[in-house]
Amino acid sequence: MKITYYGVRGSCPCSSDEHRRYGGNTSCVLVEAVGEPPLILDMGTGMRALGVDLAGRCAEPGAPLGANVLLSHLHYDHVLGLPFFGPMHDVGSTLDIYGPAQDGSSLHDVLASAVQPPFFPVGIVDFKGSVRFHDLSDPVDFQLGGLCVTVRSVPHFERTLGYRIEFEGEVLTYLSDHQAPADGDTVDDNVVELCRDADLVIHDAQYTEEAFRNRPDWGHSTASYAVKVAQAAGARRVDLFHYDPSLTDDVIDELLSAAGDLAAGGEHPVEVRAAAEGTCVTLGVVERVGRSRV
Ligand SMILES: [Zn+2]
Ligand SMILES: [Zn+2]
Repeated sequence: MKITYYGVRGSCPCSSDEHRRYGGNTSCVLVEAVGEPPLILDMGTGMRALGVDLAGRCAEPGAPLGANVLLSHLHYDHVLGLPFFGPMHDVGSTLDIYGPAQDGSSLHDVLASAVQPPFFPVGIVDFKGSVRFHDLSDPVDFQLGGLCVTVRSVPHFERTLGYRIEFEGEVLTYLSDHQAPADGDTVDDNVVELCRDADLVIHDAQYTEEAFRNRPDWGHSTASYAVKVAQAAGARRVDLFHYDPSLTDDVIDELLSAAGDLAAGGEHPVEVRAAAEGTCVTLGVVERVGRSRV
């Protein structure tokens, strides 16, 4: 699988010279597996540039696109890119969105209520492409083409899902928003199950240690806890993700360095990286790509 980061930020998008290296768009990740349609993890503001890139790959301008989405939860930073995803304004395009079932309402109704006037000029039903919704009641495992998807709830707010994606022996785990426990030590059983022996875990690293002490119940983790999760589950690599907008590039560098030291001191070797907008990971190989289009 090849993973490309289009948005790595949490809470709200941000832009400044101090956010340039890691990027300011909110959660959106492209997963490509040979022979499979594009798989999109979350629909944050990075989804706009993703739409541009995917449209550019089509044989002809405006050719229809088919893609799947795994949505962790419905907070703004994970859905705001949907109305700006260009391919949905092309006739024949289809987007299948899998996400957490909502109490008393369908996923469709909840998202449609957020994408309509007066919040946006048109509603989802007015898109030229077709958006199909699939409500997930966890725990559930299902097959998405050739991908095996494991779905479990994880501690955060409202119903939040973590995903384990397996393809031809490779394992990717996506945990964008994850509340670390107060003791900073225990790891939720569902989280261990999702991350067990994963090649790559993409994990919430919203807060510095100091920020977490001030906001211990705001739904997120630190870089050190992300390492702890990877170690507890025997994962091979963890990518820090979902940075608070207050984290500048230099601060993220420091968090990465400290997390790397922590990982190096553990019994189980874990590689630690910091996800950056416009970079790719091919499981087992890291390559940097041009940032011009992202
Ligand atoms: Zn978030
Ligand atoms: Zn959230």
